[in-house]
Amino acid sequence: MGKYIMSLDAGTTSNRCILFDKKGNICSIAAKEFNQIFPKPGWVEHDATEIWSTQLGVVIEAMAKVNATSADIEAIGITNQRETTVIWDKKTGQPVYNAIVWQCRRTSDMTEKLVEEGHSKLINDSTGLVVDPYFSATKIRWILDHIENGQKRAENGELLFGTIDTWLIWNLTGGKVHVTDYSNASRTMIYNIHKLEWDEDILNLLNIPKSILPEVKPSSYIYGYTDTRYLDEPIPISGVAGDQQAALFGQTCFEKGDAKNTYGTGAFLLMNTGDTPVKSKNGLVTTIAWGLKENEVVYALEGSIFVAGSSVQWLRDSLRIVDTAKDTEYMATQVEDTDGVYVVPAFTGLGAPYWDPFARGIIVGITRGTSKYHIIRATLESQAYLSNDVLQSMVNDSKTSLKSLKVDGGASANNFLMQFQADMCQQEVHRPKVLETTALGAAYLAGLATGFWKNLDEIKENWSVDRTFSPEISKEERDKKDRNWQRAVERSFGWAKHIEI
Ligand code: ADP
Repeated sequence: MGKYIMSLDAGTTSNRCILFDKKGNICSIAAKEFNQIFPKPGWVEHDATEIWSTQLGVVIEAMAKVNATSADIEAIGITNQRETTVIWDKKTGQPVYNAIVWQCRRTSDMTEKLVEEGHSKLINDSTGLVVDPYFSATKIRWILDHIENGQKRAENGELLFGTIDTWLIWNLTGGKVHVTDYSNASRTMIYNIHKLEWDEDILNLLNIPKSILPEVKPSSYIYGYTDTRYLDEPIPISGVAGDQQAALFGQTCFEKGDAKNTYGTGAFLLMNTGDTPVKSKNGLVTTIAWGLKENEVVYALEGSIFVAGSSVQWLRDSLRIVDTAKDTEYMATQVEDTDGVYVVPAFTGLGAPYWDPFARGIIVGITRGTSKYHIIRATLESQAYLSNDVLQSMVNDSKTSLKSLKVDGGASANNFLMQFQADMCQQEVHRPKVLETTALGAAYLAGLATGFWKNLDEIKENWSVDRTFSPEISKEERDKKDRNWQRAVERSFGWAKHIEI
């Protein structure tokens, strides 16, 4: 048995490689950023070849740091920026176009047309997703339409499609294996998450030939082995999950009702809903969390908040009332409460459960006595209120009570924020020691497939808490705050619709 599980964390701005030991400790880490390409406003691309080469580079770097040989690596797990779309030539292995990134809005017209033509229900029922340029489907169509003879080459079986996991596995195996896992497939908007197969109706609607699609396998499965041109001994590649799902797994949210929140630039909440795909009435997305065995998957509800940690950057870089993000914790506790001040950081509109693209940020309740401390405190609290709104929608949609909330991401370091989160969701909030939960999730999936870890119980033993925050305010107090918050949020609605600038 090898000493380490290698996790490839192929993110949106950088690729990282982390070596974990059996206890889930980080033994080595290497990271490299790659170029962000913005050909037009709203368009975002990556050079898929650069993604591959930087990923391979950090593999070697992470190994070199601890003098590891390929024999020391038990298995490789991959977690990736989701939805980002690559199409390449099967023979040459060269991408036919830059990767179109999940953030890219170039196919807005296409998705608008799908909605206007009344295809939302078909797509939502089958894939669990809302029709949006965010997902891979229309990005595939766009590439086939914009390269020479794209459709014909695809139909002739000359081209292959993949999300970043698929692209990396194809390259690592020297072009032998073309696969993805359930979690990544569920983000393409062409995969039926109930039948667990590519959806023929949606493929026909978009005229996407099935021959370009990868095989869909469990998230913990030996997909293939690394080609010896890169590493001298073949290493099994045996775990794959999209980044948010991998974090849910890395946080060991294995039970129905377990949820995690990642507080980064935005916040990403996922709740395990067990073997039932829950349809949301509040604009949450239904997704496959993972599948450990063939035809056996766990589902999740997912909600994202556009502005979370970036509101702290706004305090620091635009208002300049704090020097560092970390200082907000100390400054928020300089006052006992926000004294009736609420900040709604709807800088780019509001997502779930409000879905108002015209909402804009507001500060309400200001009096002559309002200080910067109140505003800083209210800004931090807004991250917890917004997260709580999504959590409550998840509870209502799934009719499952929240069992626990596990947290990670940069802003989870803020003790004031975590305490307020516990107060508002009236549940314990657990912050783990290892915050690299995304990479860890992929490592766990890989190690489970090769027997490095025996079962989920053994993995659970690895999860250790750095700090638990328990609710400290009464239900009445919490409800009062929540009612005030709801009134504040309402006041942000629709602002940009009628504003004259
Ligand atoms: P991402 O992966 O989205 O780049 P990170 O997980 O690295 O984000 O978290 C960075 C974000 O967290 C930044 O927006 C920053 O303002 C915020 N942040 C970092 N540390 C703290 C802190 N101690 N308190 C509040 N916010 C913080």
